[in-house]
Amino acid sequence: MSAENELTTGTPAPDLLALHESIADLFATQGDWRRAYRHLRSALDIARAGSLRDPLTSSYNRRYLDQRLPGFPATGKLAVALVDLDRFKSVNDTYGHLLGDRVLCRVADLLQEGLPPDAFCARYGGEEFALVLPGVNHRNAVWIADAARARIARHPWSELQPGLQVTISVGLAHGVGSGSRQLHRADDLLYAAKRAGRNKIAYQDRESSQVITHSE
Ligand code: GH3
Ligand code: MG
Ligand code: MG
Repeated sequence: MSAENELTTGTPAPDLLALHESIADLFATQGDWRRAYRHLRSALDIARAGSLRDPLTSSYNRRYLDQRLPGFPATGKLAVALVDLDRFKSVNDTYGHLLGDRVLCRVADLLQEGLPPDAFCARYGGEEFALVLPGVNHRNAVWIADAARARIARHPWSELQPGLQVTISVGLAHGVGSGSRQLHRADDLLYAAKRAGRNKIAYQDRESSQVITHSE
């Protein structure tokens, strides 16, 4: 179930952690330590997996990003794109925070849709997401980031709320260097995309080192 569906249907996920804990307690008092251990193990796995997800959008969270980034070799090619919703404050101000929350869920789903298998999307904070793309070449990184921008710009947002339009700006860093360095560069480039007028991606040209911003 997508995060948005869960939000709209209001059906809470079963509390598997509590279930495992009570089963483990039950067996433990009956002296069945082995089964109790297995259930506690499952409880721990569920808690650990949950701690790496953002509760609103179900995408990975900042903790997951911080755990994964140092694991990429600084000698390999890595692309990191930092995504920020454009003028999102005015979406909240105009339509309310609940609609704003639904927009964030849908953006997370749309970002996730176009990613290659090794890549992941994590909610970086508020209305910002990071896309981490290991092993892609420069051209593909630009293509993937711009496809994400276009997918969101063309989404039929008015079906969610008449008059609504949502766009993102993207800073894309690509090359060798540590994951945290790429994230830092992506952040600088994101501001270039904002300054260039929003609904744009910004990246550094490989030959000229100039910052390129572009949309359609
Ligand atoms: P810019 O194009 O410069 O990024 O403008 P902006 O309005 O998107 O940027 P600003 O930083 O002024 O506002 C970000 C807004 O994002 C404000 C905050 O209330 C909203 N926001 C952050 N997290 C959430 C959330 O979880 N739910 C909702 N509904 N809004 C959120
Ligand atoms: Mg922001
Ligand atoms: Mg914003």
